[in-house]
Amino acid sequence: MSDRTQPQPQPGIMEIALYVSGESKLAGGGEALKLSANENPYGCSPAATAAFQAAAKDLNRYPATDHGPLRRAIGDIHGLDPDRIICGVGSDEVLQFVAQAYAGPGDEVITTRHGFAMYPILAHAVGATPVTVDEADRRIDVDAILRAVTERTRIVFLANPANPTGTMLSGEDLRRLIAGLPGDCVLVHDGAYMEFAQPDYRDADLVDAYPNVVMTRTFSKIHGLGGLRIGWGYAQRPIIDVLARLRQPFNLSNAQMAAAEAAMRDTEFTAHCAAENARLRRWLRNQLVQMGVACDESHANFVLARLPDAERARACDVALRDAGIIVRNVASYHLPEALRITVGDEAGCRRVIAAISEFMAGERAAR
Ligand SMILES: *Cc1c(COP(=O)(O)O)cnc(C)c1O
Repeated sequence: MSDRTQPQPQPGIMEIALYVSGESKLAGGGEALKLSANENPYGCSPAATAAFQAAAKDLNRYPATDHGPLRRAIGDIHGLDPDRIICGVGSDEVLQFVAQAYAGPGDEVITTRHGFAMYPILAHAVGATPVTVDEADRRIDVDAILRAVTERTRIVFLANPANPTGTMLSGEDLRRLIAGLPGDCVLVHDGAYMEFAQPDYRDADLVDAYPNVVMTRTFSKIHGLGGLRIGWGYAQRPIIDVLARLRQPFNLSNAQMAAAEAAMRDTEFTAHCAAENARLRRWLRNQLVQMGVACDESHANFVLARLPDAERARACDVALRDAGIIVRNVASYHLPEALRITVGDEAGCRRVIAAISEFMAGERAAR
């Protein structure tokens, strides 16, 4: 007999481990250098700020339900059909629509060992079972994913470039993955960091070629609008028609849409951010490797610094905090020996390298 004495949540919900975001405050207070959430060190486009402020005069008005101007701006800049774009409250909301639409109790949702923490949360939230597939040296393993597919698999979530590893699959690998998936299994290509990469393929071409692929992008990273919560997805029409039914008509406010549209059209700002990120990311990795801290080549706006072991990663994290720098401990991503460091501006990068260098020197002296 079921318990009728108190409200009972739907299956899966109590399996959710609450998402822990990158910390922003130091225990002792004081101004911290925050390199823990992959935020844009240059802020956002001034045009986006101006558009946001201008939207303040119409706060009594409901927003448009169709997101028309924003979808046209995205379509113009990315060369996409605006009718196949869906916008959400962060790309997280678009990912949530996909989970709600295509998975439920008894279904399996594939994620990978170091995959983004939202994917299992979204699977549990719809009562589905997340299935975690091993990676090979912090790289998504296409063959391992294909081996894990069963008749219950409904969705495969992957980020490319991946967070927190920063590694990237090639277009050839992705095509092999999609070709091996059953047609009723949706591949979600989460491109939150695509603008920082130089991929050998175009994610929209995958969408055009395959009816079961959804690509997502966000305004939170290169556009520097994480605080405003805007993202979008692109897929073939049948999928978009399904997702649109789940979207609340007023999910995005006027201010969100106006700022996002201006940010999308400011290609000079995004090009500047991408170029600075690439330059400083290379410098960060070289510096780390030179001081004996392992670091894979990153295709995103962060690097994953691998200390010799978990104990020293924790000690380095403490040393950085003592220096007023917050990075991301990624033990919950099965990477206890690593720290994820957002590529800051040049001063921020120099500061974090100086602090890690001092830590490593102390380690050498102690041993
Ligand atoms: C930051 C990030 C996102 C973006 O999420 P928003 O909801 O758009 O802020 C999506 N996927 C991955 C892997 C990320 O790291």
